[in-house]
Amino acid sequence: MVRRDNKLSRRTIILINNRLLLRKMDFIVHLFWTAIVFHSQTPLWIPILFGAIPDATSWGIFFFQMIASGKLRSTWKEARHYERSDFLKMPQWLSTLYGASHSIFSFAVVFGILTFITGEIFVPALAWGMHILFDIFTHSREFLGTPFLWPVSDWKFPGFSWGRWWFIVINWATIIFLIWYLFILKGIPVVLF
Ligand SMILES: [Zn+2]
Repeated sequence: MVRRDNKLSRRTIILINNRLLLRKMDFIVHLFWTAIVFHSQTPLWIPILFGAIPDATSWGIFFFQMIASGKLRSTWKEARHYERSDFLKMPQWLSTLYGASHSIFSFAVVFGILTFITGEIFVPALAWGMHILFDIFTHSREFLGTPFLWPVSDWKFPGFSWGRWWFIVINWATIIFLIWYLFILKGIPVVLF
């Protein structure tokens, strides 16, 4: 019998590479949804920044660390030779940052402080909460389930993976339609800065 332990099927390799690519797309999707939902906020870069915080402070740092250490290419190649579960064993510091940045408690503390300081509900920071909410439902437990209860519990919601083709199509179609509707048809001005 052929041992398949160390050898991944072509299909699995393609799947892993697609997931890596999709991870970047996921980040962009978050930014687009933030711009759509918070379009009346001026300047718009503030809610977009809050929407980017969870991934920028975890995967973003990981990504730059890879570039800085010259390991980006080798990490990318290595990913091809790992079973999905091994590939998902991220370094401890990254899983801590991932937990901290995707935690409803971190969000609540920052949102609370900003609301207290400004004396009014600090709406742009809600983009952070929206990011966590999206992630909770669109990540399966098998693939980067969202640790939204960090550090109290590592329970994860059994969401469905956003990496499914039909979801990607519906999601992008909705994004493109809403951008066209809001900013072109209705002509709402985008005040980024
Ligand atoms: Zn995220």
